[in-house]
Amino acid sequence: QAKARGRGMCCAFDASMQKEAEQRLRLEEDLRHALPGNQFRLTYQPLVRASDQRLVGFEALIRWHHPVRGLISPLDFIPLAEETGIITHLGDWVIEEACRAAAHWPDHISVAVNLSPRQLVLPALPNAVSESLTRHRIKPNRLELEVTESVFLGDTHGALDVLRRLRQLGVGIALDDFGTGYSSLGYLNKTVFHKLKIDGSFVREAAKNKETVAIIQSIVTLANSFRMTITAEGVETMADFERMRDMGCHQIQGYLFGRPMDFDKATELVRGGGNARMSA
Ligand code: C2E
Ligand code: MG
Ligand code: MG
Ligand code: MG
Repeated sequence: QAKARGRGMCCAFDASMQKEAEQRLRLEEDLRHALPGNQFRLTYQPLVRASDQRLVGFEALIRWHHPVRGLISPLDFIPLAEETGIITHLGDWVIEEACRAAAHWPDHISVAVNLSPRQLVLPALPNAVSESLTRHRIKPNRLELEVTESVFLGDTHGALDVLRRLRQLGVGIALDDFGTGYSSLGYLNKTVFHKLKIDGSFVREAAKNKETVAIIQSIVTLANSFRMTITAEGVETMADFERMRDMGCHQIQGYLFGRPMDFDKATELVRGGGNARMSA
């Protein structure tokens, strides 16, 4: 009887696996039509200066408005876009769209764009970035490109080369999600990064854990000695904000100061010019 049940479980498992595979294929197919179908939108999350809580820029975060399934998170389709190679076109679109948005905002407002490791193996990327900047007359230092340390898992030399060429254009390069995965202090020493973004999970962990506070403090001290700008992500409470500011973080990003918002809301925030937290 146990054997029969075991077999039954095995078949149910197979069936669910097959269903999953089918769903994945369908999503992949939908993803191929999403860009020509105009189904992607960028949202913009405010970044504020820690010292006076003034708005200094936005991070562009992609959203997929699926005609049937509704809103799909980047966590659920970026990996698929990477595996299928769709990310190269999608990535170019994100850069172009973020530059188009930034052209409507004043020069002191920066815009950050996330890059996938797959985008960095393409030597054409710096050209595409340069063209978007020129087309929208954006000063290169207003654009920041965010990468995670996973770019160093593959072709490290190739990725570093592309990052250096991007740096030469005058755009900023941020090391994103620091404190997760294989974060290594060695990456800070790679001269390509102008900014370090401390991951939100790490920032919030600091509220409960003194050791985490000590680790963040040493990271901040080291990054400061390399003259990097340090941003704390995922700041949700006033206590998180004060802790990260007092430890020496220069910029703060998180729900406390605003969730990702559409272009019109972001533009209103820029016009308001004041405290992001008050108007968000
Ligand atoms: P990320 O670059 O680390 O972006 C920060 C994520 O944290 C965003 O999630 C943001 O909505 C979320 N977040 C911001 N403040 C808070 C907070 O106070 N609390 C909490 N719990 N979360 C907060 P989102 O928008 O779902 O994006 C997830 C990830 O998807 C991003 O992480 C990034 O790695 C990737 N992603 C987003 N847009 C793009 C894109 O255009 N291209 C690529 N390649 N990846 C993207
Ligand atoms: Mg990011
Ligand atoms: Mg991050
Ligand atoms: Mg992330």
